[in-house]
Amino acid sequence: MSVIYNRVALIGLGLIASSMYWAIKRSGLASEVTGYARSKETRASAREIGLCDRVCESAVEAVKDADLVVLCVPVGAMGAVTEEIGPHLANGATLSDVGSVKQAVIDAVTPHLPEHVQFVAAHPMAGTEQSGPRSGFAALFENRWCIIVPSRSDTQKAEAKLASLWEGMGSHVTFMEPEHHDLVTAVTSHAPHLIAYTMVGVADDLRRVTDNEVVKFSAAGFRDFTRIAASDPTMWRDVFLNNKDATLEILGRFTEELFALQRAIRTGDGDLLFDYFTRTRAIRRGIIEAGQDTAAPNFGRGSLETDGSDWAQRDKGD
Ligand code: NAP
Repeated sequence: MSVIYNRVALIGLGLIASSMYWAIKRSGLASEVTGYARSKETRASAREIGLCDRVCESAVEAVKDADLVVLCVPVGAMGAVTEEIGPHLANGATLSDVGSVKQAVIDAVTPHLPEHVQFVAAHPMAGTEQSGPRSGFAALFENRWCIIVPSRSDTQKAEAKLASLWEGMGSHVTFMEPEHHDLVTAVTSHAPHLIAYTMVGVADDLRRVTDNEVVKFSAAGFRDFTRIAASDPTMWRDVFLNNKDATLEILGRFTEELFALQRAIRTGDGDLLFDYFTRTRAIRRGIIEAGQDTAAPNFGRGSLETDGSDWAQRDKGD
């Protein structure tokens, strides 16, 4: 594949940035990739594993002469980072991000954007429950959606170039309005994460079932909750605080449905439960048909020990 950007700067060197680096390098999508993380430890780890062509000692140094700068920090940190690097961004550069929330990021970044820089927000719908510079892998974005969320009407060229980069990393690209993005991800990712956090918290609080029993007898459903609930606390705190309205709306609907199911169980309304579960089963089939998960039993875990394939590492998107 051909070079799309001359120099890409990744600010924040965790799961998403490290996966981007390996994917960009694998396909030769940029001539050089610089990187920066705020802690010495992360910068040292990055250097140790050869993550980025150059790990810089400051964000300002990393963005120098970059034609694409990607903010890969928690959503709540995007504004402050842009304020710091804004005056040092190259003329004609594109600034982008990978944040899981879009309207709040656009609002936080825009005031610090110099006139000669275009901001094109993006969100790769791919992730795992792991974090840090050592957690990334080149295949993370393959066959997953990347949502590009333009905030202005005059950034079409920059959007197209960014779309090529994400396609080069294996993603399918689609475009969305920020508000709609935040509602879609509240349904597909943010509310499910909160429910997983809650369910694991409930099991932890339930003193009649010992911790040992929870671990020993953890069935597939609970195991999946624990995997999701192991996701990075800072990232998820910021997601909920910055996608408040959409998440609360979905949680309100969730609570109503939960009450309806609770009532069906209490009143012995088997037809309601059966119809409900038939409908939800069809949604699962739709996800498999769309190639967004494996149809193998137990999410394909059986084959993992033998082939180490990446299905188990994948989350259903954040
Ligand atoms: P991560 O592995 O935890 O890495 C986060 C990076 O941001 C680290 O390098 C960290 O620096 C840095 N950082 C944390 N707080 C900061 C602050 N206040 N100021 C400056 N830098 C800070 O996170 P990630 O999973 O890659 O997530 C990065 C972004 O991608 C987030 O906005 C998240 O919403 C989005 N996203 C995540 C996923 C997912 O599944 N994980 C999926 C799609 C999108 P140190 O290492 O030095 O602490």
